[in-house]
Amino acid sequence: MTAVVAEEGLAAAIGGPPPPALVVVARPAGRRGRADLDADDVLDALDRAGPGAVVLARTPAADRGARLLPALAALVGREVVRLPDDAGAAARIVAIAVAVAPPPNAPARHLQALAGAPPLPALRPGVLARWARCAWRPCDRCGGGGLPGASCGRCGSGVAAAAP
Ligand SMILES: [Zn+2]
Repeated sequence: MTAVVAEEGLAAAIGGPPPPALVVVARPAGRRGRADLDADDVLDALDRAGPGAVVLARTPAADRGARLLPALAALVGREVVRLPDDAGAAARIVAIAVAVAPPPNAPARHLQALAGAPPLPALRPGVLARWARCAWRPCDRCGGGGLPGASCGRCGSGVAAAAP
């Protein structure tokens, strides 16, 4: 089972205690929203999650207080999947990722595709993940990929539309 890492603000939307596949970076809520992430907390979480873990994070532009997570994850060689800017959409993808527990081979692929997907009908998480894995196409710019015609789940550039 591959662990996924997310910050507490998004993970809290799942509700209840974190499932075993989810490693949460602590982020206390204060009067002015969630605090900025602490570098020690981020590194602790990455360490606990292990070398094969996939990190789910919004871009620094969307969530400045969480910018240490994708930055440090990339520095220590973890795969980072870019979540949508919208917090609700991002939390939904975290929930799906945890529900399907990414497979050890190419764990990031269906998450990269899901991250670029438009709001989908209420499919079961397993069905969504299967669909996303089938729809995934490699990115021309990096080793990641995503849905044809949508943003790459790793670098954010456009993924080529499917060949005619
Ligand atoms: Zn890319």
